[in-house]
Amino acid sequence: SANKKLHPTPSVVDVGGVKIGGGHFAVMAGPCSVESKEQVLEIARAVKASGANLLRGGAFKPRTSPYSFQGMGNEGIEILLEAKKETGLPIVSEIMDIEDLPFFEEVDMLQVGARNMQNFAMLKKLGQIDKPILLKRGLSATYEEWIMSAEYIMAGGNKNVILCERGIRTFETGIRNVLDITAVPYLREKTHLPIIIDPSHASGMWEMVEPLSIAATAIGADGLLIEVHNDPERALCDGPQSLKPSKFDRLMKEIALVRNTV
Ligand code: PEP
Ligand code: MN
Repeated sequence: SANKKLHPTPSVVDVGGVKIGGGHFAVMAGPCSVESKEQVLEIARAVKASGANLLRGGAFKPRTSPYSFQGMGNEGIEILLEAKKETGLPIVSEIMDIEDLPFFEEVDMLQVGARNMQNFAMLKKLGQIDKPILLKRGLSATYEEWIMSAEYIMAGGNKNVILCERGIRTFETGIRNVLDITAVPYLREKTHLPIIIDPSHASGMWEMVEPLSIAATAIGADGLLIEVHNDPERALCDGPQSLKPSKFDRLMKEIALVRNTV
């Protein structure tokens, strides 16, 4: 169970050799979508040099419109695996359909996106494997609903669940979503699971990523998920919220300073 009353000690999840939770902080960085081998390798090398711990990249994309770029699919996963081989960074990528599970055999962590947080049939299936699952908060999900989705995975025997706050829907229209920073201390009281923050999807604006990351680190999140692109203006998905590698490098230095002071 995710319940802290039943398991008082914080869980540490091992993702391809990188520990997350219980004092272990990890930064996952990379493009929203895998677009080409050159793109992923360039970004992977850059984020690795800046100190990222995992590489992220979407191959199966949950786009709002069916006419938007849907991702490279299995070919995208193959590209991520090449980047993993070269850099040694474990990879995290989103699964949208349990039928695709065979493609994810060598992927270190499976992301369940916000739009699938209550895809209970998929959550049950993911409970039957032991790969780490990054469970993003639904667009309008309460803490209780989010925790129950984690329970769906854990009830099947998979204890490797990491929660990811990625912004929620409110009346505000100036930004894409509102980052619910309260999720970190609140969930600390309710669950033993690691919780990370995604300031990129929370805001939808690259300018917000650094201040929100600093706040997330200061409030005690177990890690960050940051979208980084080598050419944000031409990105096929989420360019406006993506950091260029130089800005990501500066962000990593800021985060290190915060971690040394809190
Ligand atoms: C993503 O990580 O690229 C993504 C689609 O995230 P979310 O499910 O939080 O919108
Ligand atoms: Mn994205």
